[in-house]
Amino acid sequence: MNNEFIFQITRHNKTFTVHVVKKNVKRTSLRMNQFGEIIVTTNHHFKKEDVVRLLSLNTKILDNMINQMPKTCKENEIMLFGNVYEGVNIPSFQVDYKIVDKTIYYKNIDKLYEDALKEIEKQFNDFARIYPHKEKVQLFFRKMRSRWGVCYMQKNKIVLTTALVHVPKNIIQYVIVHEFCHFAQGNHSPAFYQEVSKYYPNYKEAQKEIKQYSYFLP
Ligand SMILES: [Zn+2]
Repeated sequence: MNNEFIFQITRHNKTFTVHVVKKNVKRTSLRMNQFGEIIVTTNHHFKKEDVVRLLSLNTKILDNMINQMPKTCKENEIMLFGNVYEGVNIPSFQVDYKIVDKTIYYKNIDKLYEDALKEIEKQFNDFARIYPHKEKVQLFFRKMRSRWGVCYMQKNKIVLTTALVHVPKNIIQYVIVHEFCHFAQGNHSPAFYQEVSKYYPNYKEAQKEIKQYSYFLP
């Protein structure tokens, strides 16, 4: 008897591989592995049409799995502000880099990220002008472990991780708002999130979305 089979489904215009593993189990379970494949573990009586029916009955679980899938990119790809580009290294290229549609041609990739940080700095300064009494806050970029930003309230300073260059700009906006609001509330209390929601009402969505980019945090 064949204990495994594979087929494909389409959801939100994307194709997913469904990997069915048959075991001596009572319950059928659904999960997604790190490659974005849907793994169905079930008993020996389950056929393909049973799995298809199961998936069509559990679209909410399926969509949750798809939405929480980590954003990654392959070695020859570049993730810039949430968009994936093919990276083509041309050592003799006449400029540091050039973006053409979905391809980034480059001889100096560091310059691309330097310029991306300048864009984030501008976004930061724009918000500093809006947030009360904080137009003189200092911004530093640093490679940070497992965090997107830190606010040093006494020093009037915010540090953002350089990994933000990979994250969509609307999510960067959430990180900026979050750190500024720490000047009003040092903790993550309900009062803090009330402050955040004044400047970023959809902060809960942003919190979920940013988790998908944690792959880029060293
Ligand atoms: Zn915080």
